[in-house]
Formats: sequence, structure tokens, C-alpha cells
Amino acid sequence: MQRILVTGGAGFIGSHTVERLLARGDQPVVLDNFNDFYDPAIKRANVARFPGVPVVVGDIRDKSLIDSLFAQQRFDGVIHLAAMAGVRPSVQDPLLYEDVNVRGTMVLLEAARRQPGLRFVFASSSSVYGARDRSPFREDDDIPRPVSPYAATKRAGELIAYTYHHLFAVPVACLRFFTVYGPRQRPEMAIAKFSAAIERGEAIPFYGDGSTRRDYTYIDDIVDGVVAAYDRCQGYEIFNLGESATTSLSELVDALARALGREARLDRQPLQPGDVPLTCADVSKAVRLLGYAPKVGVDEGLRRYVAWRRTLN
Ligand code: NAD
Repeated sequence: MQRILVTGGAGFIGSHTVERLLARGDQPVVLDNFNDFYDPAIKRANVARFPGVPVVVGDIRDKSLIDSLFAQQRFDGVIHLAAMAGVRPSVQDPLLYEDVNVRGTMVLLEAARRQPGLRFVFASSSSVYGARDRSPFREDDDIPRPVSPYAATKRAGELIAYTYHHLFAVPVACLRFFTVYGPRQRPEMAIAKFSAAIERGEAIPFYGDGSTRRDYTYIDDIVDGVVAAYDRCQGYEIFNLGESATTSLSELVDALARALGREARLDRQPLQPGDVPLTCADVSKAVRLLGYAPKVGVDEGLRRYVAWRRTLN
């Protein structure tokens, strides 16, 4: 049984992670500031799913809060998912992204280093790979050119976590998530936004010519990877967590419309600054070291996602 601080535990990936930890007998504690990046009522509904779990409402940048939390509770590890997420909004407000994603991560690492052996799992992102057309992406690829503030802050998080591992022997796993979807996906992400528009009969914002490709990863597969990385967290490792298959934007819209049983109308718009043409994970390292085995392809994942949406109405 592990006592684990899950930052961002009220969010999409965080709430699924907490449920998984509970199901296997761990003791998660949620820290989340319930900010209004999207409707905080969604986050409140997420934590209402696990009424017995302590929920600390607070900010990862609040050093005195973090220090007192670590002093009161003896955590075995931290799964650090709290962040300002999303590429496009980071272009609008880069300083906020830097403050939360870099400084907030450092405040947690400062607390972690004072407790020898405490494991630290950090949510990174496929966006750190930048704009590339060669795939699949490997953890040891040279990645000097992030193309959005969000990507740069996630890479900075990986680097500073390495420093804490090097100086203070904090065991660290950095997980590069590739576009995660499934029940409770953030409402501003493409699949959620497109679904809502198609259901209302509205045109969906469709950026570029539809040829951009993404490696879409179903939430249950991501959570498998998160808990496996936590369980085997030692040294300093970076893992890609993806599905290792790519889907073009056009294919995604077609598959989603099929799953919804509706027509999709497109509102064509230019590619957005910070967007990348392709993401595709080489997951062989996670397969080898974590036993990671993604199971849910896009068609099945979208069916499950649509089935969940229908439970909301
Ligand atoms: P999310 O926005 O649903 O969850 C993040 C949570 O962190 C939210 O509940 C938010 O309230 C909380 N939070 C934000 N700033 C905070 C702060 N200063 N203090 C305390 N809590 C704060 O996002 P998600 O999609 O669940 O993403 C989780 C993590 O995974 C993030 O680090 C994100 O960058 C990363 N990630 C997500 C994806 C994806 O496709 N969803 C892809 C790559 C990386």
C-alpha cells in the first residue's frame, strides 16, 4: 500500500489515476487548485467519484502549503500531473505556463528531495519532440527545438527533475503522454470539442488540410503506464506513453462521426501557431521496462468515449 500525492488529481488523467490507485489498495491524496481553465464543476464531479479520498484544495506553487503537506503526511511518492495543459493557450499566456509548470514542479521537487527515496512521476508531453516529420519518436532523440511555450515548460520540467535526481538521488520517471482521450477528457481538447459540435449540429473547427497526424492514446492505457512507472520508479527514466499508431485529423473526424452516428461539418481554418504536423511514439522502452501494452485502438476508444458521453444526457 502506497501513500501517493496526486497533483492535478481532480483533472482528466488525475481522476482516472486516483481511481486506479484506490482500486488496487493504495492511499492517494489529491492536491488540485480547481482552476477555471475549464469548468471547475467538472473537476468537482471528478473528485465526487472518490468520496473517501482526501482532497487538498491548493496550488503547487504555494511553497508553505506544500512544505506543511509533506510535513504532515508521509508520502511514499508523488504523481505530478498538475499543470497548465494545452499548446495553443500557452502561446497566449506563456508566463503563466512557466510559473505553474516549471516553478510549481520545482516547489514539489524541493519538498521531495528532503524525503529520501520518495518517488517522483512527472507528466511530460509528446509536444517536447517539436515539429518533426520523422517517426516514431524515441526517448533518446535529440530534441532541441520545442515550438510552443507549453512544450518548452514540459521539457524544462524533465530537465530540472534530472537535476534533482542527480544532486539528491530523487527517483524520477518522466512520462511523455501522447494525446490522451477517453471519458472525462478536457472539454477544450479536439475529440471532446468536436463531439460537442457534431452533437449540436455545428461545424467543427478544422485546422489545416486534415493531414496532421496524432498518436491518440486511450486513458486506460495511459493509466496502466502511469502506475507501472510509479511501481518501477528508480534512477531517472523518460518513457513515451502512446499507442504507436497515427491517425490523421480527417480520419479522426470520420471515425468520430461514425461513432456518434452523425454527419460532421467542417469549419476550415489555418494551422495554429505551435501545432506540430505529427506525433508518433516508439513505446518499446515502456514495453521493455514497464510491461506497457496499449490495448485500445482509436475506433474502439472512440466508441467507448461516445458511450460515456451518452451517459451524461
Ligand atoms: P487537466 O487540466 O484535466 O488536469 C490538470 C489538473 O491540474 C487540473 O485539475 C487543474 O485544476 C490542476 N492544476 C492546474 N494548475 C494547478 C496548480 N497551480 N496547482 C494545483 N493544481 C493545478 O489536464 P490532463 O489532460 O488531465 O493533463 C494532466 C497532465 O498530463 C498535465 O501535466 C498535462 O500537461 C499532461 N499531458 C496531458 C496530455 C493529454 O492529452 N491530456 C498530453 C500530454 C501531457
